[in-house]
Amino acid sequence: MTDFTGRTAVITGGAGGIGGATAIVLGKRGARVLLVDRDAGALETAARRIGEAIGDPGRVHVFAADVTDEEQVKAYVSYAERELGGINAFYNNAGIEGAVATITEYPTEVFDQVMAVNVRGVFLGLKHVLPGMIARGSGSIVNTGSIAAAVGLSGSAAYGAAKHAVIGLTKMAVADLKDSGVRVNAVLPGMIDTRMLRALATEIFGDEEVGMQGLGASVPIGRVGSPFEVAEVVAFLLSDAASYVTGAGYNVEGGTLATLYNGG
Ligand code: NDP
Repeated sequence: MTDFTGRTAVITGGAGGIGGATAIVLGKRGARVLLVDRDAGALETAARRIGEAIGDPGRVHVFAADVTDEEQVKAYVSYAERELGGINAFYNNAGIEGAVATITEYPTEVFDQVMAVNVRGVFLGLKHVLPGMIARGSGSIVNTGSIAAAVGLSGSAAYGAAKHAVIGLTKMAVADLKDSGVRVNAVLPGMIDTRMLRALATEIFGDEEVGMQGLGASVPIGRVGSPFEVAEVVAFLLSDAASYVTGAGYNVEGGTLATLYNGG
Protein backbone atom coordinates (compact mmCIF):
# COMPACT_ATOMS: atom_id res chain seq x y z
CA MET A 1 0.00 0.00 0.00
CA THR A 2 2.94 2.35 0.52
CA ASP A 3 4.95 1.10 -2.47
CA PHE A 4 5.58 3.61 -5.28
CA THR A 5 7.29 1.28 -7.76
CA GLY A 6 6.49 2.34 -11.32
CA ARG A 7 4.92 5.61 -10.17
CA THR A 8 6.00 9.17 -10.89
CA ALA A 9 6.12 11.74 -8.10
CA VAL A 10 6.61 15.44 -8.83
CA ILE A 11 7.91 17.58 -5.98
CA THR A 12 8.08 21.38 -6.13
CA GLY A 13 10.69 22.93 -3.88
CA GLY A 14 12.43 19.61 -4.51
CA ALA A 15 15.90 21.09 -4.00
CA GLY A 16 14.91 22.31 -0.53
CA GLY A 17 14.82 20.68 2.89
CA ILE A 18 11.36 19.11 3.15
CA GLY A 19 11.00 18.54 -0.61
CA GLY A 20 14.40 16.84 -0.82
CA ALA A 21 13.66 14.58 2.15
CA THR A 22 10.34 13.61 0.57
CA ALA A 23 12.11 12.74 -2.69
CA ILE A 24 14.38 10.38 -0.74
CA VAL A 25 11.51 8.71 1.12
CA LEU A 26 9.45 8.25 -2.09
CA GLY A 27 12.53 7.19 -4.07
CA LYS A 28 13.42 4.54 -1.50
CA ARG A 29 9.88 3.19 -1.96
CA GLY A 30 10.41 2.84 -5.69
CA ALA A 31 9.11 6.13 -7.15
CA ARG A 32 10.54 7.93 -10.13
CA VAL A 33 10.88 11.51 -8.84
CA LEU A 34 10.88 14.82 -10.68
CA LEU A 35 12.38 17.63 -8.61
CA VAL A 36 11.07 21.07 -9.60
CA ASP A 37 12.79 24.16 -8.24
CA ARG A 38 13.84 27.56 -9.51
CA ASP A 39 17.64 27.24 -9.32
CA ALA A 40 19.13 24.81 -11.86
CA GLY A 41 22.43 24.51 -9.95
CA ALA A 42 20.70 23.71 -6.67
CA LEU A 43 18.59 21.12 -8.50
CA GLU A 44 21.64 19.33 -9.91
CA THR A 45 23.27 19.20 -6.46
CA ALA A 46 20.05 17.93 -4.87
CA ALA A 47 19.55 15.32 -7.59
CA ARG A 48 23.06 13.90 -7.01
CA ARG A 49 22.48 13.72 -3.24
CA ILE A 50 19.03 12.15 -3.62
CA GLY A 51 20.18 9.71 -6.31
CA GLU A 52 22.95 8.47 -4.00
CA ALA A 53 20.58 8.22 -1.04
CA ILE A 54 18.11 6.03 -2.93
CA GLY A 55 20.85 4.07 -4.69
CA ASP A 56 19.41 4.70 -8.17
CA PRO A 57 20.31 8.07 -9.75
CA GLY A 58 18.41 7.10 -12.91
CA ARG A 59 15.09 7.55 -11.10
CA VAL A 60 15.82 11.19 -10.15
CA HIS A 61 14.91 13.85 -12.74
CA VAL A 62 15.03 17.65 -12.53
CA PHE A 63 13.15 20.53 -14.10
CA ALA A 64 14.03 24.17 -13.39
CA ALA A 65 10.86 26.23 -13.13
CA ASP A 66 9.43 29.15 -11.18
CA VAL A 67 6.11 27.98 -9.73
CA THR A 68 4.64 31.48 -10.04
CA ASP A 69 5.04 31.45 -13.84
CA GLU A 70 2.13 29.68 -15.55
CA GLU A 71 4.07 28.81 -18.72
CA GLN A 72 6.86 27.25 -16.64
CA VAL A 73 4.31 25.28 -14.59
CA LYS A 74 2.73 23.99 -17.81
CA ALA A 75 6.22 23.05 -19.02
CA TYR A 76 7.16 20.91 -16.00
CA VAL A 77 3.75 19.23 -16.01
CA SER A 78 3.93 18.37 -19.70
CA TYR A 79 7.51 17.09 -19.28
CA ALA A 80 6.33 14.71 -16.54
CA GLU A 81 3.25 13.66 -18.50
CA ARG A 82 5.22 13.11 -21.73
CA GLU A 83 8.59 11.77 -20.56
CA LEU A 84 7.88 10.18 -17.17
CA GLY A 85 4.63 8.33 -17.77
CA GLY A 86 2.25 10.86 -16.15
CA ILE A 87 2.04 12.23 -12.62
CA ASN A 88 0.71 9.78 -10.02
CA ALA A 89 1.76 11.75 -6.93
CA PHE A 90 2.27 15.50 -6.63
CA TYR A 91 3.87 17.24 -3.65
CA ASN A 92 2.92 20.91 -4.15
CA ASN A 93 5.47 22.24 -1.68
CA ALA A 94 7.58 25.20 -2.87
CA GLY A 95 7.33 28.15 -0.51
CA ILE A 96 9.10 31.18 0.87
CA GLU A 97 8.98 32.70 4.34
CA GLY A 98 8.86 36.41 3.46
CA ALA A 99 9.61 39.01 6.11
CA VAL A 100 9.20 38.99 9.88
CA ALA A 101 7.24 42.18 10.57
CA THR A 102 3.91 43.23 12.05
CA ILE A 103 1.19 44.21 9.59
CA THR A 104 1.80 47.93 9.97
CA GLU A 105 5.49 47.46 9.12
CA TYR A 106 5.13 44.64 6.56
CA PRO A 107 6.64 45.57 3.16
CA THR A 108 3.85 45.38 0.57
CA GLU A 109 6.16 44.07 -2.17
CA VAL A 110 7.20 41.18 0.11
CA PHE A 111 3.51 40.47 0.83
CA ASP A 112 2.96 40.19 -2.94
CA GLN A 113 5.98 37.86 -3.37
CA VAL A 114 4.79 35.54 -0.59
CA MET A 115 1.30 35.41 -2.08
CA ALA A 116 2.76 34.73 -5.53
CA VAL A 117 4.87 31.74 -4.48
CA ASN A 118 2.81 30.30 -1.62
CA VAL A 119 -0.70 30.79 -3.06
CA ARG A 120 -0.50 31.41 -6.83
CA GLY A 121 2.23 28.72 -7.11
CA VAL A 122 0.08 26.17 -5.29
CA PHE A 123 -2.99 27.14 -7.34
CA LEU A 124 -1.09 26.82 -10.65
CA GLY A 125 0.30 23.45 -9.60
CA LEU A 126 -3.20 22.16 -8.87
CA LYS A 127 -4.63 23.72 -12.04
CA HIS A 128 -2.16 22.05 -14.37
CA VAL A 129 -1.41 18.74 -12.61
CA LEU A 130 -5.06 17.83 -12.02
CA PRO A 131 -6.19 17.36 -15.66
CA GLY A 132 -3.86 14.38 -16.20
CA MET A 133 -4.90 12.81 -12.90
CA ILE A 134 -8.60 13.36 -13.64
CA ALA A 135 -8.19 11.82 -17.10
CA ARG A 136 -6.56 8.72 -15.53
CA GLY A 137 -9.13 8.63 -12.70
CA SER A 138 -6.42 8.43 -10.04
CA GLY A 139 -3.76 10.46 -8.28
CA SER A 140 -2.85 11.98 -4.97
CA ILE A 141 -1.72 15.50 -4.11
CA VAL A 142 -0.31 16.99 -0.92
CA ASN A 143 -0.03 20.75 -0.41
CA THR A 144 2.28 22.20 2.24
CA GLY A 145 0.53 24.33 4.84
CA SER A 146 2.08 25.27 8.18
CA ILE A 147 1.13 25.83 11.80
CA ALA A 148 0.66 29.39 10.46
CA ALA A 149 -2.30 27.97 8.53
CA ALA A 150 -4.07 27.26 11.81
CA VAL A 151 -3.31 30.06 14.28
CA GLY A 152 -2.11 33.65 14.33
CA LEU A 153 1.64 34.12 14.69
CA SER A 154 2.96 37.63 15.24
CA GLY A 155 5.13 38.97 12.43
CA SER A 156 3.78 36.47 9.86
CA ALA A 157 0.95 38.37 8.13
CA ALA A 158 1.78 37.37 4.57
CA TYR A 159 3.05 33.86 5.35
CA GLY A 160 0.12 33.05 7.62
CA ALA A 161 -2.48 34.45 5.23
CA ALA A 162 -0.90 32.50 2.38
CA LYS A 163 -0.81 29.25 4.34
CA HIS A 164 -4.46 29.68 5.38
CA ALA A 165 -5.16 30.03 1.64
CA VAL A 166 -3.30 26.75 0.98
CA ILE A 167 -5.73 24.97 3.31
CA GLY A 168 -8.59 26.76 1.54
CA LEU A 169 -7.33 25.62 -1.86
CA THR A 170 -7.02 22.05 -0.54
CA LYS A 171 -10.67 22.03 0.51
CA MET A 172 -11.92 23.74 -2.67
CA ALA A 173 -10.02 21.21 -4.79
CA VAL A 174 -11.69 18.34 -2.94
CA ALA A 175 -15.08 19.91 -3.60
CA ASP A 176 -14.26 20.27 -7.30
CA LEU A 177 -12.97 16.69 -7.52
CA LYS A 178 -16.05 14.74 -6.47
CA ASP A 179 -16.01 11.18 -7.87
CA SER A 180 -12.74 11.86 -9.74
CA GLY A 181 -10.54 9.27 -8.00
CA VAL A 182 -8.09 12.05 -7.09
CA ARG A 183 -7.30 12.91 -3.46
CA VAL A 184 -5.91 16.23 -2.17
CA ASN A 185 -4.59 16.74 1.36
CA ALA A 186 -2.32 19.12 3.24
CA VAL A 187 0.40 18.82 5.84
CA LEU A 188 0.89 21.50 8.50
CA PRO A 189 4.55 21.32 9.56
CA GLY A 190 5.76 23.10 12.69
CA MET A 191 9.42 23.93 13.38
CA ILE A 192 11.35 21.83 10.86
CA ASP A 193 15.13 22.01 10.54
CA THR A 194 15.68 23.44 7.05
CA ARG A 195 17.24 26.56 5.54
CA MET A 196 13.90 28.34 6.02
CA LEU A 197 13.64 27.73 9.77
CA ARG A 198 17.34 28.55 10.29
CA ALA A 199 16.84 31.87 8.46
CA LEU A 200 13.83 32.66 10.66
CA ALA A 201 15.69 31.61 13.82
CA THR A 202 18.55 33.97 12.94
CA GLU A 203 16.18 36.83 12.18
CA ILE A 204 14.07 36.43 15.33
CA PHE A 205 16.82 35.56 17.85
CA GLY A 206 19.81 37.28 16.21
CA ASP A 207 21.80 34.00 16.32
CA GLU A 208 21.07 30.81 14.39
CA GLU A 209 22.00 28.23 17.06
CA VAL A 210 20.42 30.16 19.95
CA GLY A 211 17.34 30.60 17.78
CA MET A 212 17.08 26.93 16.84
CA GLN A 213 17.39 25.91 20.50
CA GLY A 214 14.81 28.50 21.52
CA LEU A 215 12.37 27.34 18.87
CA GLY A 216 12.96 23.68 19.76
CA ALA A 217 12.34 24.38 23.44
CA SER A 218 8.94 25.89 22.57
CA VAL A 219 7.73 22.58 21.07
CA PRO A 220 5.96 20.09 23.39
CA ILE A 221 8.06 17.23 21.98
CA GLY A 222 11.10 19.25 23.07
CA ARG A 223 12.96 19.77 19.79
CA VAL A 224 12.59 20.96 16.21
CA GLY A 225 11.56 18.33 13.67
CA SER A 226 13.55 16.68 10.90
CA PRO A 227 12.41 17.15 7.28
CA PHE A 228 12.15 13.35 7.13
CA GLU A 229 9.47 13.43 9.84
CA VAL A 230 7.34 15.55 7.48
CA ALA A 231 8.32 13.44 4.46
CA GLU A 232 6.99 10.26 6.12
CA VAL A 233 3.54 11.82 6.57
CA VAL A 234 3.56 13.21 3.03
CA ALA A 235 4.52 9.78 1.67
CA PHE A 236 1.65 8.19 3.60
CA LEU A 237 -0.86 10.71 2.23
CA LEU A 238 0.44 10.24 -1.32
CA SER A 239 0.22 6.45 -1.02
CA ASP A 240 -2.65 4.03 -1.44
CA ALA A 241 -2.53 3.45 2.33
CA ALA A 242 -4.38 6.79 2.62
CA SER A 243 -7.06 5.76 0.10
CA TYR A 244 -9.93 7.15 2.24
CA VAL A 245 -8.16 10.36 3.26
CA THR A 246 -8.90 13.53 1.31
CA GLY A 247 -9.36 17.17 2.31
CA ALA A 248 -7.39 16.57 5.51
CA GLY A 249 -4.76 18.78 7.11
CA TYR A 250 -2.21 16.64 8.97
CA ASN A 251 -0.30 18.41 11.75
CA VAL A 252 3.41 17.46 11.85
CA GLU A 253 4.51 19.83 14.58
CA GLY A 254 5.45 17.96 17.74
CA GLY A 255 2.29 19.07 19.54
CA THR A 256 2.70 22.82 19.02
CA LEU A 257 -0.90 23.42 17.96
CA ALA A 258 -2.26 21.38 20.87
CA THR A 259 -0.63 23.68 23.39
CA LEU A 260 -0.02 27.03 21.73
CA TYR A 261 -2.56 28.88 23.84
CA ASN A 262 -1.77 27.06 27.09
CA GLY A 263 1.66 28.55 27.52
CA GLY A 264 3.09 25.30 26.07
P1 NDP B 1 13.48 25.41 1.84
O1 NDP B 1 13.81 26.84 1.66
O2 NDP B 1 14.56 24.45 2.20
O3 NDP B 1 12.75 24.82 0.54
C1 NDP B 1 11.87 25.59 -0.25
C2 NDP B 1 12.25 25.39 -1.69
O4 NDP B 1 11.29 26.05 -2.52
C3 NDP B 1 13.62 26.01 -2.00
O5 NDP B 1 14.43 25.10 -2.73
C4 NDP B 1 13.24 27.24 -2.81
O6 NDP B 1 14.22 27.68 -3.69
C5 NDP B 1 12.01 26.73 -3.55
N1 NDP B 1 11.26 27.85 -4.12
C6 NDP B 1 10.99 29.04 -3.55
N2 NDP B 1 10.32 29.82 -4.41
C7 NDP B 1 10.17 29.10 -5.56
C8 NDP B 1 9.58 29.38 -6.81
N3 NDP B 1 9.00 30.56 -7.09
N4 NDP B 1 9.60 28.42 -7.76
C9 NDP B 1 10.20 27.22 -7.52
N5 NDP B 1 10.79 26.90 -6.36
C10 NDP B 1 10.77 27.84 -5.38
O7 NDP B 1 12.35 25.35 2.95
P2 NDP B 1 11.47 24.15 3.52
O8 NDP B 1 11.87 22.86 2.93
O9 NDP B 1 11.44 24.32 4.98
O10 NDP B 1 10.03 24.57 2.96
C11 NDP B 1 9.20 23.70 2.20
C12 NDP B 1 7.76 24.06 2.48
O11 NDP B 1 7.49 23.79 3.86
C13 NDP B 1 7.41 25.53 2.26
O12 NDP B 1 6.14 25.62 1.65
C14 NDP B 1 7.38 26.08 3.67
O13 NDP B 1 6.56 27.22 3.77
C15 NDP B 1 6.83 24.90 4.42
N6 NDP B 1 7.04 24.91 5.86
C16 NDP B 1 8.30 24.86 6.40
C17 NDP B 1 8.46 24.85 7.76
C18 NDP B 1 9.81 24.78 8.42
O14 NDP B 1 9.89 24.94 9.65
N7 NDP B 1 10.89 24.55 7.71
C19 NDP B 1 7.30 24.91 8.66
C20 NDP B 1 6.03 24.97 8.00
C21 NDP B 1 5.92 24.95 6.64
P3 NDP B 1 15.22 28.89 -3.23
O15 NDP B 1 16.15 28.27 -2.23
O16 NDP B 1 15.87 29.29 -4.51
O17 NDP B 1 14.35 29.96 -2.64
